[in-house]
Amino acid sequence: MSSLLVSDARVLTPTGTLPGGWVAVRDGRIEAIGPAATRPPSDLPERLVVDGAWVLPGFLDVHGHGAVGFDTMDADPVGLEAIAAHQARHGVTGFLPTTWTASHGATMAALETIADLHGRALAGATVLGAHMEGPYLNPRRCGAQDQRDIRPADPDEVAAYLATGVVRLITLAPEIAENLALVHTCREAGVTASIGHSDATFDEVRAAVAAGVRHATHTGNAMRPLHHREPGTVGGVLDHPEVRAEVIADGIHVHPALLRLVHAVKGSDGLLLVTDAIGATGLPEGPFDIGGRTVEVRDGAVRLPDGALAGSVLTLDRALRTLAAATGLGVEHLWPTVSRTPARAIGVDDRKGSLIPGADGDLVVLDDDLQVLATVVGGRLVHRAAPPRPPEPGGPRPEPTADPTPEPRPLTAGPAGG
Ligand SMILES: [Zn+2]
Repeated sequence: MSSLLVSDARVLTPTGTLPGGWVAVRDGRIEAIGPAATRPPSDLPERLVVDGAWVLPGFLDVHGHGAVGFDTMDADPVGLEAIAAHQARHGVTGFLPTTWTASHGATMAALETIADLHGRALAGATVLGAHMEGPYLNPRRCGAQDQRDIRPADPDEVAAYLATGVVRLITLAPEIAENLALVHTCREAGVTASIGHSDATFDEVRAAVAAGVRHATHTGNAMRPLHHREPGTVGGVLDHPEVRAEVIADGIHVHPALLRLVHAVKGSDGLLLVTDAIGATGLPEGPFDIGGRTVEVRDGAVRLPDGALAGSVLTLDRALRTLAAATGLGVEHLWPTVSRTPARAIGVDDRKGSLIPGADGDLVVLDDDLQVLATVVGGRLVHRAAPPRPPEPGGPRPEPTADPTPEPRPLTAGPAGG
């Protein structure tokens, strides 16, 4: 349990922006937030002065498989910690390690590893539970998921998964009768049912929402597309305001125009950004092995040999920058898409996703270009951007990319005083 005062910040609260404001975290929770004209508590042991940078609730990623060479399906606690640290370097303070379609044994092993780390203080983001992406999908919309292990929901198998106590989100194809029955089970268990990898018609989406579906997995990808006479899964997701829509905002999975359109329909309380990141995230581009299959990572895209997209190498800070570029809106409008909306989606909004007194002390500090300067989890500074390095004389200039990453400004931090 840590305590920290963040000051000279543009603090984004649910009721507006506080320029020159401060956030006091005591024993892991937000004690108070104040505007420039007010005095923060003077007895907090650590202080982070952010020189006018944005301070937001920490990002929450409800759909991420891996990073830096590790995958949730490895069922390796060391790997999960490495993923958590990578996520924190990109502003994420809480995440749901996400399983792929796999055998019962492999899925149980992954869930039990998540249970071991669930809620613990790590050197990075907190593991908030598990997102099960499969195995209860539609083989016709399997995407990169292994068709051989896709199966209809079996109540006994589901009971074993839910008994681990960590499942918060299940992606399923509700047009399959056994999976529609699982929606009811999820509702009773307090688990969010998400439509995804689905070939549901508009009418089937309506039936799924009536049964309790409230979430859509990577909207636009691996789902029946929109047709003007048969709006399909995409049209059904857009037309039901009670369904929160994930989007992989890497500029590749979904065209910027559709990203803009989803935001226009859903708003920042209905759209949530996810990474769907695989183990290749944070590594150099090239071939990468996922579950025995080789994918190619090139120009920021992950593809199977047939050209199909197979997850992403996206980070959530870049997703936010992509959404800002697509919509032309500022972070003061968009911050819920990476914090409050995912918090509501998995039912942790009573303590995460908004900067309010009593909430967990999970913060991210961003500069004007929405680059991450620092990440705070439970009042602990778990990541801080390196100060800018002087350019090497005569050295090679980095190639410009679609998402230029300027060197962030350094922050000042140290013991409180004055
Ligand atoms: Zn995924």
